[in-house]
Amino acid sequence: MGGIESLLLNLLFLIVFLLFVPLFIEKSLKTLPNKLKKSIIIFSFCIAIVSNISFPITVVEGFVFDLRWIPLVIGTLYGGIPVSILLFSTTVGYRFMIGGTGVIPNLIVCLILVTLSILLIKTFKNSTKKKRISMVTSLSLLAGFLQFLIFYKVYHLPISVMELLGYSVLLVFSAFIVIYTLEIIREENMINEKLFEAEKMKIVSQLASSISHEVRNPLTVVRGFLQMMEQTEMSRYEQKKFLKISMDEIDRANLIIGDYLSFAKPTEQNMEILNLKKEFQRAIEMIKPLANMNSVEVHTKVDSYYINGKSQLLQQCLLNIFKNCIEAMPNNGNLFIETIKNNNIVYIVIEDNGQGMTKEQLDRIGEPYFTTKGNGGTGLGMMTVMRIVDMLDGRIHISSELNKGTRFEISIPVVEKEKHQSA
Ligand code: ADP
Ligand code: MG
Repeated sequence: MGGIESLLLNLLFLIVFLLFVPLFIEKSLKTLPNKLKKSIIIFSFCIAIVSNISFPITVVEGFVFDLRWIPLVIGTLYGGIPVSILLFSTTVGYRFMIGGTGVIPNLIVCLILVTLSILLIKTFKNSTKKKRISMVTSLSLLAGFLQFLIFYKVYHLPISVMELLGYSVLLVFSAFIVIYTLEIIREENMINEKLFEAEKMKIVSQLASSISHEVRNPLTVVRGFLQMMEQTEMSRYEQKKFLKISMDEIDRANLIIGDYLSFAKPTEQNMEILNLKKEFQRAIEMIKPLANMNSVEVHTKVDSYYINGKSQLLQQCLLNIFKNCIEAMPNNGNLFIETIKNNNIVYIVIEDNGQGMTKEQLDRIGEPYFTTKGNGGTGLGMMTVMRIVDMLDGRIHISSELNKGTRFEISIPVVEKEKHQSA
């Protein structure tokens, strides 16, 4: 293959495995666990190195050049020492498998490059975008130069200054393309995250004020009636009417507070180890009267798994879901509650065979004030559930079919009880 074609192919590998794969995972496979994401990205870097070594550019007979240094440097600087060791082993190991004159020079260049990169990790982390870009390009250039030097001095391969120059330019150019794009993507991601955080905070504070408003309204009404009853003579009938409205208003306030209750984010200090079995028992005990009223049978299969959290929050979360499920089965039905552990995750499955939701309703669930229950609902329950699941470091998945039922699946990392007790 010609020089230019090989170079373009090498660059394509870098673009796909160093830029596209991480971007795709970040944007389109958001829900994957972070550890898995990281592993895929590291693996992708390894593939980049292997494919670069597999399709080298022959400069002169016996001297090949490729872009393998770029993933090695970038991987080390962003990923840290463990990643660096893995990439180093891949480079050296794969090069060793191929064999030939290049094995030893490759090993030497790799050693120098990785050592230098590791020493620079800290500086790299605290540097500006510009500095980071120049660090990566310089290191890549240095690698190419070292490789050339060894071939020239030790193996006496005839390489002209022009070839060296051309080679250096290509290496710097490729490194620059990759690191520049990578930095822009990272910057963009960071800005997006900050915006998202700010937006969330705005919603929460707006919500807090609108909720206190919602609670104050019924209280004002009740107070007005009480004052009127105190100051004016009225018939027994009228009194009863006003008392009825007052009670309705108080119920309304109660409903709003009940769905919303505590929103304080748990801090590291007030997190506790929760036994899911005990927590569920408590929550189910509380929901029993409502279940009985609707002739809903509760089936539980809950085991003693431990999670990190706050009892009050978990209770609120479970109660809001239970309440919705029971409310979706007004005449009778079954509520299934189950916990399943898989690896280090516990899956909490709550399922009803109630009225279910349409696709549109399912899409809107968790939106503040979205309710299909008119005045009987607040539209705050599921929003609170989602916030709490987030605080517990968990994820929630809801599926529903109209007139068939709804299934809530919450996954939360488990903690080992023994470890905690000895700590
Ligand atoms: P509220 O219960 O006060 O209406 P929520 O935020 O708890 O507010 O729920 C929002 C909406 O989501 C409900 O009005 C209902 O339409 C729908 N929903 C929630 N859970 C279920 C469920 N288990 N079955 C059917 N619909 C549900
Ligand atoms: Mg509700």
